[in-house]
Amino acid sequence: MNDASTAFPATRPPLGCAALLMEVLRGELRERELPFTHQREAIARVLFESPRNFSADEVGEELRERGEQLGKATIYRTLALLVELGLATEHDFDEGFKRYQVQVGAARHDHLICTECGRVFPFEHPDVDRVLADVVASSDFVPITRQIKVFGTCNECT
Ligand SMILES: [Zn+2]
Repeated sequence: MNDASTAFPATRPPLGCAALLMEVLRGELRERELPFTHQREAIARVLFESPRNFSADEVGEELRERGEQLGKATIYRTLALLVELGLATEHDFDEGFKRYQVQVGAARHDHLICTECGRVFPFEHPDVDRVLADVVASSDFVPITRQIKVFGTCNECT
């Protein structure tokens, strides 16, 4: 299995990255029929706007400085969701808590989308990763994220 983190090396988020990642988050939540809430946006923004890693407590502090009071459980749940969606990574430095960091470059959002019933089928293929990594490398381009969407009809709708 090709390691996407090698194919798409994580780098510090470039300017304009936060807005793009926020659009990806919005789309991923919509596909899962999860609401794009103000809380989720605020927590994600803290991560997306900085290359550093944050503990859940530090995310809470940062939010308080921005005038947001969010419960610890909400922060934990949202950070876990960002990891699940491939938009953040989780690190354990033996501090007794985890740290979270924006995942730049490695997030894959490749889907087959049925235009009849609206169902969305995520897919992964190492060859796709390899080809895109080649394209990116030969273009001297820093990837933030990627989305491949194939529209058509699923086997239940053909
Ligand atoms: Zn269908």
